[in-house]
Amino acid sequence: MDVITLGTGSPLPTPDRAGPSTLVRAGGRDLLFDCGRGVLLRAAAVGSGALNFATVYLTHLHSDHVTDFNDLVTTRWAMSPFENPLKVVGPVGTQQFVDRTLAMLETDIGYRLDHHDDLCWNPPVEVTETDAAVDGTVISDVGGVRVIAAPTDHAPVQPTLGYRVEADGASVVIAGDTVPCEGLFTLCQGADVYVQTVIRPSLIKMIPSARLQDVVDYHSSIEDAAATATKAGVRQLVLTHPVPPPPPGTEHEWVDEARRAFDGDVVLASDLDTVTVPATT
Ligand SMILES: [Zn+2]
Ligand SMILES: [Zn+2]
Repeated sequence: MDVITLGTGSPLPTPDRAGPSTLVRAGGRDLLFDCGRGVLLRAAAVGSGALNFATVYLTHLHSDHVTDFNDLVTTRWAMSPFENPLKVVGPVGTQQFVDRTLAMLETDIGYRLDHHDDLCWNPPVEVTETDAAVDGTVISDVGGVRVIAAPTDHAPVQPTLGYRVEADGASVVIAGDTVPCEGLFTLCQGADVYVQTVIRPSLIKMIPSARLQDVVDYHSSIEDAAATATKAGVRQLVLTHPVPPPPPGTEHEWVDEARRAFDGDVVLASDLDTVTVPATT
């Protein structure tokens, strides 16, 4: 199983980090987690794309995590020679988000239906909303790839989900934006790789912006992520979505900070990094 950090950015635009999205390659399939700014550009760099995603899993509906969802819908629909539903799994509210996205796209959909004689269907999107249990809910178990969801804590944004993928004798957690909580511990228990969006409060506190200070209490700090990894017995911690974006050359500070509370492997992900997860069970 491979984990590819397609986009490692946050809402703050930065030239070398696309918006949050992570690709998990398992059992010969591409599973996409979130679809932030530039997701299809990054997917193209690893030979994937709108037609390749078996399912798109959304952790939550914050703009940075879903900015390019509309691009995914349009590109898959316009490129597919047959009616090829986009499967989406997300928290309650995802169906409404999809309906509104399709409404936003109506003008373009009309243009393309009028222009192409062989395109005679609207973009098909199949949504599964999941009200996951704290002890984990199995979302799918197909072809040796099991996906489990659990609720996370990103209040006041709710509901939010984290995911665990089990395949090829290994396990990976895509946590999304969350503070440490019971659902997150459930997912992380004994995981080989734990991907966590993080912030660095010591730097944020130096930035004179009241709005930026608000983000501190609903994300995991580096220290929180490291503590979760230790508590859950995780093998490797992958930090992503760093806020504020680290100036080039300072990435090691983030890793060093995590190592103070976690003995396993730690990386601060860049776009298009691949973590290969060997079988451990
Ligand atoms: Zn975010
Ligand atoms: Zn968020």
